[in-house]
Amino acid sequence: MVEFAPDAVLVVLETTPAGELASSSAGLLGAASTIGTPVALLVADESRHDALAAAAGKFGAASVLVGHAGEANELTVPAVDAVAAAFELVRPAAVLLSHSADGRDIAGGFAARRSLPLAVDAVGVGSDEEGVVAHHSVYGGAYNVTSASTFGPLVITVRQGVIEERAQEVAEPDVSRLSVTPSGTRAATIESFEAASGSSTRPELRGAAKIVAGGRGLGSAEKFALVEQLADVLGAAVGASRAAVDAGYVPYAYQVGQTGVQVSPQLYVALGISGAIQHRAGMQTAKTIVAVNKDADAPIFAIADFGVVGDVFTVVPQLIAALKAKKG
Ligand SMILES: Cc1cc2nc3c(=O)[nH]c(=O)nc-3n(C[C@H](O)[C@H](O)[C@H](O)COP(=O)(O)OP(=O)(O)OC[C@H]3O[C@@H](n4cnc5c(N)ncnc54)[C@H](O)[C@@H]3O)c2cc1C
Repeated sequence: MVEFAPDAVLVVLETTPAGELASSSAGLLGAASTIGTPVALLVADESRHDALAAAAGKFGAASVLVGHAGEANELTVPAVDAVAAAFELVRPAAVLLSHSADGRDIAGGFAARRSLPLAVDAVGVGSDEEGVVAHHSVYGGAYNVTSASTFGPLVITVRQGVIEERAQEVAEPDVSRLSVTPSGTRAATIESFEAASGSSTRPELRGAAKIVAGGRGLGSAEKFALVEQLADVLGAAVGASRAAVDAGYVPYAYQVGQTGVQVSPQLYVALGISGAIQHRAGMQTAKTIVAVNKDADAPIFAIADFGVVGDVFTVVPQLIAALKAKKG
């Protein structure tokens, strides 16, 4: 029987459809390592347990609890059952999940079931003399606030891509099998499943380390290709403003902002984007912001680390050429 440290932090890891650890895993375990001892929970097909536990160790999980995936057609409830079982066993100081669609769903379900406090969309975690706290960027990035619990361990969803800390590799994490008693709570079931075929080889927008985004300033869907060209040279994901989406340059899935995807990359390049508050709400926590806009008074320059006042169709081709030349 594995003993868990009193400062254990339970980290709920997700897997990709291909059965690998989700890209959010390194950041979640890194965040956990700054406040305690990371204990990973993995719910996956049994054949993947060893490989996934080793991968979690690489990202710093001191212990790994592995649960059986069970019926794949039941949504959320089996995962909440597994988190509840792990919580009983580990008695953690906090529970960390990704602020992904699944992570949010599981976090809400688990916090409600156990009447625990829930802190969502954290951009950092920390601790003070009273326990674990979560940091948030709110009102479009205008304020940074901290949330703390007055009762019980915090359940925290962490924005993807925002955590830079990485935990030290654990060569041989303690791996134990988690036995889960199904709660019998009614679950939504998936009746049919059709995989969407994405032809893009670019990184996914949510959680990407680098993003190049385009706005209305690109002028048309054809000309938006310039954004994609720069993204490809940088190995970045492609994003867009709502005006660019509304004008039909790219699909809604590309929209960054208050009513789109909220991102926290290391690098965010904004091309022909004015920097409206609703756009900034989705990208203001990016580490380095580069903006190209022909209007020197565009609000995006107020938050940009590097700004170029100029026409994107003059500046960006030169940037692409320079980057290509540098790559050799
Ligand atoms: C409830 C609500 C929710 C919203 N949610 C979102 C959201 O999630 N995401 C979002 O993005 N917006 C959102 N919006 C819309 C937001 O208010 C802005 O309208 C939108 O972000 C503007 O997009 P834009 O910067 O591309 O366009 P514009 O504001 O029109 O700016 C275009 C910019 O391109 C520059 N430009 C033009 N031509 C060139 C050129 N050749 N070279 C260089 N620069 C050039 C211009 O100087 C200008 O600054 C929301 C609005 C509301 C009311």
